[in-house]
Amino acid sequence: MATVAFHTLGCKVNSYETEAIWQLFKSSGYQRVDFETDTADVYVINTCTVTNTGDKKSRQVIRRAIRRNPDAIVAVTGCYAQTSPNEIAAIPGVDIIVGTQGREKLLEYVEQIKAERKPINAVGNIMKAREFEELDVPAFTDRTRASLKIQEGCNNFCTFCIIPWARGLMRSRKPESVIEQARKLVDAGYLEIVLTGIHTGGYGEDLEDYNLAKLLVDLHQVEGLKRIRISSIEASQITEEVIDVINHSDKLCRHLHVPLQAGDDDVLKRMRRKYTTAEFYEKMVRVREALPGVAITTDVIVGFPGETDEQFMNGYHFIKKVGFAELHVFPYSMRTGTPAARMPDQVEEEVKRERVAKLLELNQELTVAYASQFVGDVLEVIPERPYKEDPSSGLLMGYSDNYLNLVFPGTEEMIGKVCKVRLDKPGSEYCQGTFVRVLDDVRLPQLEERAI
Ligand code: SF4
Repeated sequence: MATVAFHTLGCKVNSYETEAIWQLFKSSGYQRVDFETDTADVYVINTCTVTNTGDKKSRQVIRRAIRRNPDAIVAVTGCYAQTSPNEIAAIPGVDIIVGTQGREKLLEYVEQIKAERKPINAVGNIMKAREFEELDVPAFTDRTRASLKIQEGCNNFCTFCIIPWARGLMRSRKPESVIEQARKLVDAGYLEIVLTGIHTGGYGEDLEDYNLAKLLVDLHQVEGLKRIRISSIEASQITEEVIDVINHSDKLCRHLHVPLQAGDDDVLKRMRRKYTTAEFYEKMVRVREALPGVAITTDVIVGFPGETDEQFMNGYHFIKKVGFAELHVFPYSMRTGTPAARMPDQVEEEVKRERVAKLLELNQELTVAYASQFVGDVLEVIPERPYKEDPSSGLLMGYSDNYLNLVFPGTEEMIGKVCKVRLDKPGSEYCQGTFVRVLDDVRLPQLEERAI
């Protein structure tokens, strides 16, 4: 049996697409082997180009595959392949280069290489793409939460971001295809689906009379689906229609990831973000009215070119004022080919490190403050795996619908099920909890209380 190994860099969308590519190989009789430990006949590297470091790491992984088996067929796909196919073609040993579209032809290219051994560069002009590329993922190799890609590309062109050039313009998946995929995932045993995309909140902007709010309503029809999570949504896309759906839903998670990127209006303008801090704040107030207790998490870039100490502190105070449940903090990383990379007043690395440290400190405060609101509450948690710090501890970890990471005493058979768990002690990394019962009212044998 022919073997294939995969390595994925970057985001959830890339992980989703690797699973989809694996489905193609699987249905052609391939066996999946480990990229690091086994020798494969075919290597597929799904690359990332969000930063210059992403490019470098992608090249390192490509060379590693070639060294591992010089006779193997090496296929490179993903965002770095889309933006820089010639750089990849220059690496001796690369056989196939496919960008962020046309992956369904990969098997065909592998057969072509076997026959002719002439490298194939199948990267097309992604800016011309108008159709969403259907890639089927009925199940995931090692996950209890299923992501479902509903959207591709982005029309925003934020000045620090290369993604629109790697992924093309906004394309939405047909609603009937999203629903069908959701049904398959529920049939495969998934209770929670995470809607994902390059610009998830922009879903439907290229469709007639259809949008994210309507899709959310239609997804409620999927029997057996317990939780719907939106991986990310821009403040400008949280419409009254979306808020109304959130307000009336028993499946939508009380968690919205809304990238802020900066908390100062001058910086936001230079990033070409589509809101001001006042507009962002007003939207968060609306969301909290509709969904009390909602976890609002965010992304923040520090050290954007020209960011002064004062502008950074404006951001610091704004973040504190919004009271996010969690921050993802990123030092600005120059990406060649973006307008921001050509901007003057690039911030020194040392200054970036200080600002990252300051926001991570604030993040500690904010995560504990948010979790503290739920002490004593019984939350619905889907355990994903044993407690990673000590898998033999008899402890499980998983997320509540409002994105609190809970660790509690539990047994393997609870994994993947919706469990009722009481939050006992808030924490920044995770909260400590006590198992109450599985939601389907099946009371499991009483577990002895265990100190965590
Ligand atoms: S919204 Fe901005 S940051 Fe996000 S993918 Fe689009 S261009 Fe990049």
